[in-house]
Amino acid sequence: MSVTVFSHPQCMQHQVNEFHPEEPARLSAINDQIIRSGLELAITQKDGTPATKAQLYRAHDPAYVDAIFAKAPQEGHIWLDPDTLMTPGSLDAALYAAGCGINAVDEVMQGDNQRAFCVVRPPGHHATYDTAMGFCIFNNIAVAARHAMQDYALERVAIIDFDVHHGNGTEAIFLDDERVLLCSSFQHPFYPDTGADTQRPHIINSPMPAGTDGNSWRAEVEQHWLPALEKFKPQLVLVSAGFDGHAEDDMANFHLREDDYRWIAQRLSELADKHCHGRVVAMLEGGYDHSSLGRSVVAFIKGLI
Ligand SMILES: [Zn+2]
Repeated sequence: MSVTVFSHPQCMQHQVNEFHPEEPARLSAINDQIIRSGLELAITQKDGTPATKAQLYRAHDPAYVDAIFAKAPQEGHIWLDPDTLMTPGSLDAALYAAGCGINAVDEVMQGDNQRAFCVVRPPGHHATYDTAMGFCIFNNIAVAARHAMQDYALERVAIIDFDVHHGNGTEAIFLDDERVLLCSSFQHPFYPDTGADTQRPHIINSPMPAGTDGNSWRAEVEQHWLPALEKFKPQLVLVSAGFDGHAEDDMANFHLREDDYRWIAQRLSELADKHCHGRVVAMLEGGYDHSSLGRSVVAFIKGLI
């Protein structure tokens, strides 16, 4: 099994200020590590295409999407929330980030590879139906999920989110959409302080304390996620792949390691092989320590292979 890696140079052109952790160099670190590891020889790399407004409207309020287009700056920068800014390259970067997810869904549904990973930024899982938040402008994984449900008439899509922050935007968008089974682990209490009290049969949240290590995290996945995913029988597995829960990432206080990311990729691949012709699409979310980010993405992609 090979993996198609989607990205686009425009994702580097979302130029934040020098103090912002969600910076272009994150993608360079991943690309460097893909080359250094030799993984380059085992994957197929493709440039993505930008999402259209119509594709974004499936997950977002059209008025919100139109407002983002209208306020995108020609020079300087604007703040969408206290953490999220737009510079002249940001709109196109966000369109390519969401578009890569759509390309990846098309790839696994009708292309040669049944696994895909999107090396994109800005991330997406905090963006709600009508709000930018937490470094996120458009909710990339939600746009991909709705594309799969609309263009391929899928009725059961799993979304796995192991970023150390709760994917509040993804949860909000699919709160009443039971075609999605959302499994999410996150440090709690912690930003954005959501998800611990959600009561929905199709949303399995795993709030876990600071200090959570790979053993307790894997146990949670085995006890609560995998049985539910088996029962759900997804037609497609999507992954909000955030690596800020790595022990070396000081954005948060989980102690996950590369092996844990490889392990979850293997478990999800087995699930997908059994239920949906091996179809897995993962999209980069967080991960701010460049060394561990690059190594973790490589470990995760190896798990997909
Ligand atoms: Zn995060």
